[in-house]
Amino acid sequence: MNHAQIEDHKVPEILEFYYSLEIRSLVTGVSRFGASLIPSFHNKCEECHVFVAKRNFDIAFGVAILSSTYHHRGMIVTGKQNAEDLCGFIDSSPSPFHAVKTAAERLLEAGFTEIESLTSINKEDSVFFRRDGALFAISGPLNADKAVRVIGAHTDSPNLRLKPLFDMSRNGWRALGIEVYGSALNNSWLDRDLGCSGRLVIRTKDGMLEKTCRLDEPIARIPQLAIHLDRQVNEKGLILNRQNHLQPLIGIREGSNLLEKLANSINHNVEDILSFDLMLHDLTPSTLSGIDQEFISAPRIDNLLSCHAAISALISAKSSTSEFTRVVALYDHEEVGSTSSTGALGPLLNDVLTRRCSETSLSSELSLIISSDCAHGTHPNYAEMHDIDHKIFLNEGPVVKYNANMRYATDAPGAALVKTAAESANVPLQTFVSRSDLACGSTIGPLAAASTGIRTVDLGVAQLAMHSAREMCGSEDPEYLKFVLIELLKN
Ligand SMILES: [Zn+2]
Repeated sequence: MNHAQIEDHKVPEILEFYYSLEIRSLVTGVSRFGASLIPSFHNKCEECHVFVAKRNFDIAFGVAILSSTYHHRGMIVTGKQNAEDLCGFIDSSPSPFHAVKTAAERLLEAGFTEIESLTSINKEDSVFFRRDGALFAISGPLNADKAVRVIGAHTDSPNLRLKPLFDMSRNGWRALGIEVYGSALNNSWLDRDLGCSGRLVIRTKDGMLEKTCRLDEPIARIPQLAIHLDRQVNEKGLILNRQNHLQPLIGIREGSNLLEKLANSINHNVEDILSFDLMLHDLTPSTLSGIDQEFISAPRIDNLLSCHAAISALISAKSSTSEFTRVVALYDHEEVGSTSSTGALGPLLNDVLTRRCSETSLSSELSLIISSDCAHGTHPNYAEMHDIDHKIFLNEGPVVKYNANMRYATDAPGAALVKTAAESANVPLQTFVSRSDLACGSTIGPLAAASTGIRTVDLGVAQLAMHSAREMCGSEDPEYLKFVLIELLKN
């Protein structure tokens, strides 16, 4: 569709319109601004005539829906609205169990069917199942022989987790016994108002029941030692002993019982709690930030950003006529090495693939796993920590991650598939490699590649403050990632 054809549609036919301020003026004055509206590869829907509007690269994406049907309403979000949707996804997901629940709700709303067992995986086109902090969703034609496209991400983030006997006394105060989960930036948990979330296993008449729970009240805080008592801290740095210095304080006198509060919040009695997995979260809501809202400031961007993009992309691709089998694998326990039944070293992805895909499909040259996880943006205050020839900027597109020692799984043919998908989606890409004298991080990519034998590419959005209790990324990159993933799922 060209410029003139768009004018034929006439502006009054735009019945529903999701926009950023710039896009509003763009679409209401298409010819005046000399902008072009291009058919979207990402959200194209025959019924709705959905188009992505785009002018140069200095403007966010917008979507005009030129039709009287509203069935995409609430599903298509663009530009900064995608960022705001991500903020909502993150805030709904303080624990991996909540992340799975949030993803499941979105899949159900989009018409996916939840299955209890993998034996039902071939009953319908679009199904998902969840186990603990992991979720696997599958879409695409049954008995397809073409290729499989998998997007992998992880639901867990570094945080503070409650010990089994957590209610303890510390020098006359009430405190929580915690373990640090994953490689958290410990200092980032200081002086924050902390809530509690996770899951409880509850005894019932018929057996037992697992339920998520969350308390969004500032029940705990870890106060930093005053500078007067630690005069060298600004020169020598802050060293926190995990056992001694990170115990969150919850009170002074004997009083409320945390487990009782959590049980009551889901209408159960504390006596019925058999066991729990509980963790703390910062209560500050996620938000767009920066003088022009170019950033997202939020907890758990690593890696709920990728979970959000993967689920959004799978839902967008659901009505596609593509013959690819499309899979989203949201794993738990990436931050602690992935060795668990629901981690990337567990059996679930292989179970899904062997039950749903033919051998021809699994060995196809076109089969691909995208291991989607965040990347390090070049920190302007520590530019020397990055490879000077591979600078990574926020809002300049998703990052393909390379490592010669296979800490990332990307290889040339895989990168070529991603590059052509990004070109089709009109999305810029960036390239990351570590400094040669620094140890490189890793993620689920190499693990998924090794366990399935499928070519894998590590791809993700650039961020700063990775593993802080409060991370940041660009507000446009999450949508760029979503568009590339949609393209990869379909073509
Ligand atoms: Zn991660």
